[in-house]
Amino acid sequence: RVLTLRRRACGTPPPNDRSRIITTQDRQDFGEDPLTVRDTDHYKDEYVTGFVEKWDDLIDWKARYASEGRFFIDQLKERGVKTVLDVATGTGFHSVRLVEEGFETVSADGSPEMLAKAFANGLKHGGHILRVVHADWRWLNRDVHGTYDAIICLGNSFTHLFSARDRRKALAEFYAMLKHDGVLIIDQRNYDALLDGDYGNKHVYYYCGDDVTAEPEYVDEGLARFRYTFPDKSRYHLNMFPLRKEYVRRLMREVGFQRIDTYGDFQETYHGDQPDFYIHIAEKA
Ligand code: SAM
Repeated sequence: RVLTLRRRACGTPPPNDRSRIITTQDRQDFGEDPLTVRDTDHYKDEYVTGFVEKWDDLIDWKARYASEGRFFIDQLKERGVKTVLDVATGTGFHSVRLVEEGFETVSADGSPEMLAKAFANGLKHGGHILRVVHADWRWLNRDVHGTYDAIICLGNSFTHLFSARDRRKALAEFYAMLKHDGVLIIDQRNYDALLDGDYGNKHVYYYCGDDVTAEPEYVDEGLARFRYTFPDKSRYHLNMFPLRKEYVRRLMREVGFQRIDTYGDFQETYHGDQPDFYIHIAEKA
């Protein structure tokens, strides 16, 4: 079933950056030919500190709270969810929101720098001590313990997996970490519109006014390369895998989820009647 939801949010705050040590790295490295960078592990090199810090400064959390509304919280509460694993913690926006709403929350991410930023943000936004765990989705069960009522993977994060094998592996890991009647929530950009030319490559996404813009610089069936421009004219890029909506739904079904509802979310722009984001809610039982 494909349902429609009208909601305005400020988009996807990009997260942090390079591995092992916390750096002040401000330059991204896509090598000589950025269009050949199609690698699941490259996200750690894309979320450099300058990009993440700028994003967190410009997209203020209060505005994001207000615009996102209670959609995810209501979906979780309606299902009696008590424990949540946030697998794409990033700078911590959803984890903090969940903790504030009383959910027992564990915050995982593959980037240690992101987790450090999320932990600091937890303290900054309400004095919350987030329970952070460093874990890659492909080996989630190795590094995170227990089972959860819900897993969330939000902010167009699943798009960082570049091979079908990685996507299946990650979904299987999510499935295994859910209780028998657990729910998985994944959101994604509407890549179908981009791939099918419904937006053209001139489409510009505006985040919270016109402070930050995101433009698809290059798109093919295996790569969506976006350019992010900030008010000081600085530019950053993300290379992502353009997930087609039906493909993600099929993968979820194949991994074992019994019911999948997909919501169209009119997030950042108001052009036409195409949603900019989809939200998949997959139930295990
Ligand atoms: N959910 C947050 C939000 O909406 O603000 C952050 C989203 S950010 C676009 C994507 C996050 O996914 C990053 O923090 C990145 O480190 C993480 N990530 C990407 N691929 C991953 C993987 N294979 N395993 C674990 N984390 C991963």
